[in-house]
Amino acid sequence: MPRYADCLVVHAHLFTMEGTGVGYRADGAVAVRGDAIADVGPTSRLQAEFEAEEILDARGCAVLPGLIDAHMHTPLAIVRGVAQDVAHWMQQALAPYSRHITPAAALAGTRLNVVEALKAGTTTMVDYARPLPGWAEIYDQVGVRARLSPTINALPAGGMAGWKLGDLYPLDEGSGEAALDAAVAFSEDWHEAADGRITVMLGPQAPDMLSREQLLKVKSIAQRQGLMIHMHVAQGDREIDQMLQRYGQRTPAFLDDLRYLDDQLLAVHLTEATDPEAELIARRGVRMVLCSGSIGIIDGIVPPAQVFRRAGGWVALGSDQPSGNNCSNLFNEMKLTALFNKIKFRDPTVMPAWEVLRMATIEGARAVGLGDTIGSLVAGKQADLIVIDLVAPQLSPALQTPIRNIVPNLVYAASGHEVRDVMVAGRLLMRHRQLLTVDEPAVVADAQREAEAIAGRVAADPVHSQLALLEPMAAGQL
Ligand SMILES: [Zn+2]
Repeated sequence: MPRYADCLVVHAHLFTMEGTGVGYRADGAVAVRGDAIADVGPTSRLQAEFEAEEILDARGCAVLPGLIDAHMHTPLAIVRGVAQDVAHWMQQALAPYSRHITPAAALAGTRLNVVEALKAGTTTMVDYARPLPGWAEIYDQVGVRARLSPTINALPAGGMAGWKLGDLYPLDEGSGEAALDAAVAFSEDWHEAADGRITVMLGPQAPDMLSREQLLKVKSIAQRQGLMIHMHVAQGDREIDQMLQRYGQRTPAFLDDLRYLDDQLLAVHLTEATDPEAELIARRGVRMVLCSGSIGIIDGIVPPAQVFRRAGGWVALGSDQPSGNNCSNLFNEMKLTALFNKIKFRDPTVMPAWEVLRMATIEGARAVGLGDTIGSLVAGKQADLIVIDLVAPQLSPALQTPIRNIVPNLVYAASGHEVRDVMVAGRLLMRHRQLLTVDEPAVVADAQREAEAIAGRVAADPVHSQLALLEPMAAGQL
């Protein structure tokens, strides 16, 4: 009696990410039924057992679980590349642009970023943004998996006019409450939506951007509703300075006293955490997101992910924001993470390719709270997988013995453009590099139009004279 599959992926170099390594199987196959994986095994056995609607031949290809980008700000793709190589990227490069991003431009940025990430094999996107109408709908329509975190902060709605670097931020309880109400309403609409493909986390922006009372309120709502909290933690010297001024404590000690450090918290960056602070946070069960490209470019810092992992914590990778990263591509993040940490410790054995590949798949899935659903190719899990062409010149030759070279080449040589097919929840979203659920040229053209309009408004705004990149521009360096 044959078993039935909607799709049978066959003849793959299969990296299941099961066990403690990469779970390699030669000539492997994956049977997909509905939105889930029905079976994983040798091609010969699965071909004999299954009657399949469609056969996806992956000969000469690696098949992996879809990659997880654990921290994105997708609307900022609309101002890609306006904020790098400067000292105060947020104030002197991004802010004059971000104040001119209209809701339509923000949505165009999200579409562009989703297309870019999807084409590079990212199937789960943990996005952190203002919950504009239309934002979640993009994920619903394109078909990728999303973990959406509506931003909650108590910064004055009218902007920070008059605030100077070094001053304590004004916190406005009213705008904090409004943002929290909007986030809760958003979670009621979208948590477990699209057959569970879209889920929600609460996103207090950072411990210095809400009052202590509002942080506690977010925590109690998250506990009551079973939602994770996605927050920037110790993300810069500016934040630590605010915490010391306001509470006389550094961020980690403050959050520990507030009982915020537990497995409900996804902590982003930890840029300024000392090694003992990173160890404490990991031991409390907190999960970390490491954004190597973004923090490298905007701060010149390698966050303490190695210490965090050695203390037993799970680390996911994130691309953060294209305004100054400048791409959302997990292949880029894997390579930079491995390189930066080797350089930091002057030790080539630190963060080998297989470890960063786990951070982009199974360890990342556990870190963002989806370890039972995605991150490895195992029967019963969601069918989120990518097919990567190993015949691409930069990935050739593929060798099996005495040393298999595929994983090191995927991490150190691939650009992401070798991803041939992408499946999420059993549905093919890209086949032979063609996106099937979104009009890629229209998305790119729309983003270009919106970005040019933003640039025009920035040029007409006197605030643009503060742009740090005007000088290299005038000097003929851009
Ligand atoms: Zn961020």
